[in-house]
Amino acid sequence: MTSGGGRRALVALLAIAAVAVSGCDSKSGSGSGPVQDTGAGSVAGLPVTHFESGLKSGAPTPSLDVRNADGGEDDKLATAAIDDVQTYWGEMLPPDFGVQFEPVKSLLSYDANTDTEETGCGSVKKLVNAFYCPTDDSVAWDRGVLLPMLRKRFGPMSVVVVLAHEFGHAVQYRLGDKAGITKSTPTVVKEQQADCFAGGYFRWVAEDKSKYYQVSTSEGLNQVMASMFLIRDQAGTSAADRGAHGTAFDRTFAFQAGFEKGPKECAAMNTDNVKARLTERPFDKGDKGKGDAKFNDQAVELLKKSLDEAFKGAGVAAPEINDGGSCTTTAPASYCPDDNSVSIDLAKLAELAQPIDREAEMKGEDPGGMGDFAAFAEVASRYALGIQKGVGASIDNPNAGLRTSCLVGAWAAFTNRPGDLRLSAGDLDEAIADLLQPESLVSADVNGKRPDSGFDRVESLRRGYLEGSSVCSKQYG
Ligand SMILES: [Zn+2]
Repeated sequence: MTSGGGRRALVALLAIAAVAVSGCDSKSGSGSGPVQDTGAGSVAGLPVTHFESGLKSGAPTPSLDVRNADGGEDDKLATAAIDDVQTYWGEMLPPDFGVQFEPVKSLLSYDANTDTEETGCGSVKKLVNAFYCPTDDSVAWDRGVLLPMLRKRFGPMSVVVVLAHEFGHAVQYRLGDKAGITKSTPTVVKEQQADCFAGGYFRWVAEDKSKYYQVSTSEGLNQVMASMFLIRDQAGTSAADRGAHGTAFDRTFAFQAGFEKGPKECAAMNTDNVKARLTERPFDKGDKGKGDAKFNDQAVELLKKSLDEAFKGAGVAAPEINDGGSCTTTAPASYCPDDNSVSIDLAKLAELAQPIDREAEMKGEDPGGMGDFAAFAEVASRYALGIQKGVGASIDNPNAGLRTSCLVGAWAAFTNRPGDLRLSAGDLDEAIADLLQPESLVSADVNGKRPDSGFDRVESLRRGYLEGSSVCSKQYG
């Protein structure tokens, strides 16, 4: 976030009053259409499952030719992923698009440290990447640096999502006009489609249709989405840049859209509808801290002011925020219902607010902090519980958790304008990264309980951000 400069925003988050009016936990409906799936008990209509994600124990050995493969663990995962994704598209393309599926012409495995193999797109020397090359219709992956780094940090399914994404580009070329891709289509639109196609494939895996892989809809999908955060664009990249892949916020949106709605939805993504919702943007002029504010007393004061302003439409007493304070239920930030206050451990939150060390992160090492917005969002979530309590909503169940992250998203959108405390490039990604952590508070209820599904946590924050606070009580009532 950045602070200082600009006029104070005067617009209140009036829609928050919707919480005040509904304020109920019964799902009997308020007459405004069908009762929505609250998300707490399912993941896009699939049950919440817990088991180890990865290759199935009885998975076959794929019989695909891979040039330069060494047969190690990452080659095994990548080759099985390609074979699996090809089976998926073999099933999907004819009924959905009237197109017969053709496998890619060649596959290449290489070690970015040492290898100098050529593809139709040039040499792979020092290329820490995985890619689809349209010139020779090939898919290549770096088994030396990229895949082991992902696998060690996020588990085997992170390798699978990378290959499913790259294969998504091969599908784009096969669909041609049917995916609306032309020479002038911006990179970020192609990337959104590829992420979406990967999401479609992951649903098929989650529905247990794959002979190779299994993924749980809780920890498994959480890890997959967290790995998309790692390969996000650098904060401050413009969505118009050549090579922009989109932020983690945008990428998880596309992945979830594919998971929920399937490949036809992905093929319908185009420049107009993608650009309208992309959050990626360059740093504002004068954003000297490159978006990272120090988390100190002054920052907490600004945060309190910003939250008071955003939630004043609810018409309830605003919680105080105190360093130390009267309870430690969910330290380092806790909502204390007895005196309607938020207790924080400023020093601990300041550690969390340290900028992410991108170099360490890319080496698979501890990235230090999670960025300032992660700390702001954790405190904002506790504050939002106070507002919910004020309007008579529940604060101690999974729906309360999702409503909380939804309200944090609505607040983030509120700060997305000139004001004392302002959302800056990279902030939303920090919120997503935080949300996908097992111990995140952003979608936790008053006791620190959170829905197992990171999928739901991310979706609730996004909906609040994109649609405003009224959706929070409607969707997670
Ligand atoms: Zn791509």
